[in-house]
Amino acid sequence: MAMLNRCPKCNSELKLVADMQICYRCDYWTRKGTARLDFVLFNM
Ligand SMILES: [Zn+2]
Repeated sequence: MAMLNRCPKCNSELKLVADMQICYRCDYWTRKGTARLDFVLFNM
């Protein structure tokens, strides 16, 4: 499953929070899918 780095609505950078990716500009968010949750948690 592909990971988004850019918001599909406003094209700003998505922030990774737990297992979700959030856009603070337009409040868009998406679940990250199956990729490497362990790596994300250690880098918060
Ligand atoms: Zn956005």
